[in-house]
Amino acid sequence: MAASGAVAEGSHNEGARRAFAWEPPLPLTRNPVFAWPPRILDAVRYLFSGVYFWSLVVPFGALGALTWNFLQPPLEQCAELAAGWIALMFVRNLVLMTIVAGGLHLYFHVFKVQGTERKFDREDMQRKNPRFLGNDQVLDNMFWTLASGVPIWTAYEVFFFWAYANGMLPHYLEWRAHPVAFFALFLVIPFWSSAHFHFVHRLLHWRPLFRLAHAVHHRNVNLGPWSGLSMHPIEHLIYLSSVLIHLVIPSHPIHVLFHMQYETIGAATGHTGYEAITFRGKPLIYLTSFHHQLHHRHLDCNYGNLLCPVDRWFDCDHDGSSEGMAGVRRRQRARAEAARREPARRRG
Ligand SMILES: [Zn+2]
Ligand SMILES: [Zn+2]
Repeated sequence: MAASGAVAEGSHNEGARRAFAWEPPLPLTRNPVFAWPPRILDAVRYLFSGVYFWSLVVPFGALGALTWNFLQPPLEQCAELAAGWIALMFVRNLVLMTIVAGGLHLYFHVFKVQGTERKFDREDMQRKNPRFLGNDQVLDNMFWTLASGVPIWTAYEVFFFWAYANGMLPHYLEWRAHPVAFFALFLVIPFWSSAHFHFVHRLLHWRPLFRLAHAVHHRNVNLGPWSGLSMHPIEHLIYLSSVLIHLVIPSHPIHVLFHMQYETIGAATGHTGYEAITFRGKPLIYLTSFHHQLHHRHLDCNYGNLLCPVDRWFDCDHDGSSEGMAGVRRRQRARAEAARREPARRRG
């Protein structure tokens, strides 16, 4: 993995010289939820907007509800760790991921239904590139997603359903008894995930952990749906740990399914390389944020996403402006300097 780390660090410099084929209006705007002084009305409007509620909460909420009602072994069955129900959940997750990532891949990158409309990168998915398993970016990304991502995602879900079935979790949030809290949690989970992502992602950029694990994800400079969950198993474990919040906050099993599907299938929708699915030139559903595309291009910025402004609080945000780019260059120089000093320190 150390070798692929070196490739990834070189490759982003190649990429940094290329202009994007398409960019949203820059600088990227922040949502008003954390605005100071508070803009309560705007914040509420955002929480129910097309870009948040309809592109994210509703689709993943519907998928979570569908899974819980029709695709999930009953809770009583999950009290004992048995191969049958665990295999069922594994196959379900495998199929769901393949339908979404595979479907989006066919739509955007094989049949090119949308052409290059709202496609960020000029490049297509890489073929004949020795950086990837089998020299093929898509096959490589599918391998890490299906052979490591789906099993670890399933393992987290199995743990929660086994714990719920055995009454080991302190709370079971009944929707009839607490409809407001039940609904509000769907609105809050993506914000929690955003903050968690920033901190664990910065940890993954710590040089030893980057070379050991995170370099696998960063071999992808231009992105496709299969790139989203294409990670080393260590990264899968760390990245998906945001779901452990449900050990302490009152939740329903649907929230766990929603949370996991948002992290996993959401990674596929969040790495399509296209900002949105469009209809007659207008965005119908927002998918991939330019903010994270910039992270894949430059590395030293945007460890979180646009929901929680943690990148801004810690001065590592790149909003697409020239000031943002200057900050990236400054941090890249500091990182290169630290890497140069490291072997000398080891020798000393
Ligand atoms: Zn990524
Ligand atoms: Zn990263």
